[in-house]
Amino acid sequence: MTIPLNSKVQHAFPPGSGTQAEPELSCGKLNLETIRQKGIYVVETPGDGFVSVAGMLAKSGFEKVESAHLPQDDSLIKTLRKEARNLDLILLDISQAGIRGLELCRRIHEEKALKDTPIIIIASKNIWHEDFIYSAFLAGAIDIVFKPVQRLELIPRVISSLLLKSERDLRKNHKMELENELAERKVIEARLQYLVSHDELTGLCNRRRLEQALETAVFHARRKQYTSALLYIDLDQFKVINDTEGHTTGDRFLMSIANELRREIHKEDILARISSDEYAILIENTTEEAALRTAETLRRVIDEYRFSANDKEYHIGASIGIAMIKPEEELTASEILARSAQACFEAKTHGRNMVHMFSHDDVETHIIRNAVNWVPKIRDAIENDRLCMYYQPVVDVESNSICGHEALIRMLGHDGQIITPEKFIPIAERMGLIRDIDFWVINHVIELLSRLPEAYGDQKININLSMFAFQDPALLPLVCNKLAATGVSASRITFEITETAAVSNYAHTRRMIKQLRKLGCCFALDDFGTGFSSFNYIKQFPVDYLKIDGCFIRNLIHDKVDQRLVRSMIDVAKTLNKKIVAEFVENKEVLGLLKEYGIDMAQGYYIAPPGPDPLLTPPTHA
Ligand code: C2E
Ligand code: MG
Ligand code: MG
Repeated sequence: MTIPLNSKVQHAFPPGSGTQAEPELSCGKLNLETIRQKGIYVVETPGDGFVSVAGMLAKSGFEKVESAHLPQDDSLIKTLRKEARNLDLILLDISQAGIRGLELCRRIHEEKALKDTPIIIIASKNIWHEDFIYSAFLAGAIDIVFKPVQRLELIPRVISSLLLKSERDLRKNHKMELENELAERKVIEARLQYLVSHDELTGLCNRRRLEQALETAVFHARRKQYTSALLYIDLDQFKVINDTEGHTTGDRFLMSIANELRREIHKEDILARISSDEYAILIENTTEEAALRTAETLRRVIDEYRFSANDKEYHIGASIGIAMIKPEEELTASEILARSAQACFEAKTHGRNMVHMFSHDDVETHIIRNAVNWVPKIRDAIENDRLCMYYQPVVDVESNSICGHEALIRMLGHDGQIITPEKFIPIAERMGLIRDIDFWVINHVIELLSRLPEAYGDQKININLSMFAFQDPALLPLVCNKLAATGVSASRITFEITETAAVSNYAHTRRMIKQLRKLGCCFALDDFGTGFSSFNYIKQFPVDYLKIDGCFIRNLIHDKVDQRLVRSMIDVAKTLNKKIVAEFVENKEVLGLLKEYGIDMAQGYYIAPPGPDPLLTPPTHA
């Protein structure tokens, strides 16, 4: 007798009805309730005198049991395929199907949508022999139950099969999640990799990539005994376009210049954009004469180029400096870059729109000229109290309260003008005056802490120190003595060290930091994220805070890459058990997003700009 497939029996007994009260079961996240909610499809053999398996399941509280009689045709596969999403187990009674039963099992198992759905075969005892059992398992069954089916035997097997399915689903979902995450990560990594070595605006190499190429060029020069050249190109008066026409036009201009330059060089040459309006070209295996000729051609190309914007035509010149890489000289990448920049500076001072080849005499004159200007000014400032500190509050994001200030140095010009650190710190570092500044700052800040009223007793101040300070044996006694003399607790001082400084003399700096931490001072890694390679160092670096560099924060709202980077920096900090601080928080939206990401502290113009007195700089948005 054939019973049409759509003669389904839906058994929907309330759980446990007809059964004795059962104790609450649970297996991992699955409990008895969820197991009973699993979808089971029973293919039964009609009229064989045995109790219906679907009925047994329903009696045991399984709520989503569907059953149908085994059809003669192929329609079963179609039905199961359609139902696949809702199926967690198939019970296939093949007791009267003969060899066709195993073939059916194999076909169900091979269905793509059903391959993870366990199949239990129900068979007659009279077909029992070992070959049949092997064949059933090979056909995809995970279990065999012989007739007459006993409920006590069936239910544990059904439960164990459902658990298996649930485990499979879990694993599959997990694998899919991992695969998605991996794909997303790969895209981001590729983009980061590109950003690490390229300039986003022009697509040219960036400074970092150029430095790597320079190191290779130095190696080649020595091994292959040839000379190479680095051309440093500075656009004269690019600022005019940028200021009068706006940044978008300025960007367009920089891209067109990049294209002009690209046209004039060979494909083996490295063309890089190394700062806003500065480009560099590395030409390997060339002579001084050839490099001068190329530079002259490039100068002429830029000179003859006309840039149009808003019905106006701009004419721009370029100053080009050249530094040669010779086999007999062992220079670092930054020394070569400095030489070419120096030569470019000479070209500018000789009247702009010129080419200049580096010479040792130029360097001497430049250093002397700069020293003549700045050294007396800096000395005068140190000796005559013309240095002063500004303080910018740092806010604890969770409690919304000021937890400290960062001390930022300023120099007072004779006309009362306030000179920012970028103007004099780099020169002080090169001219050997930074030690006096660093020590002046330490003395000044600790004294201020000792004078702060009681109410500010727990306030901390961050002190920025140059990389030289951490290599100076006098630093530790200076801090110890000053703390002892003023009675200020070391825990109120956080020293900020930049990532580059931390990495440059790693072992020595690390030792010094450890000693100061032993004293009770804290440490923050400043400008975190700017040296992409230093994640490894950070792991072993004894600092308490990581300060994400402002360049990642400023455009956070609009820049997806920055968002991803900041989130991973926060992850790194949390994993390493360090507090994480964001600087350059310039608006409410950025602060909101950072809060969402789990930042610990924030600093920036939105909270408060640096001011001359820590007591007088109440945060505007604490
Ligand atoms: P830094 O330690 O990363 O300091 C943060 C700089 O960002 C400060 O500039 C601060 O005024 C500025 N800033 C703060 N909030 C915002 C904001 O929301 N938006 C923007 N665009 N900028 C913000 P400043 O004071 O000119 O200091 C520049 C750098 O000079 C410092 O960078 C630090 O590396 C160095 N420096 C400052 N004071 C000292 C010092 O006492 N000793 C030494 N050795 N270096 C110092
Ligand atoms: Mg700082
Ligand atoms: Mg910083």
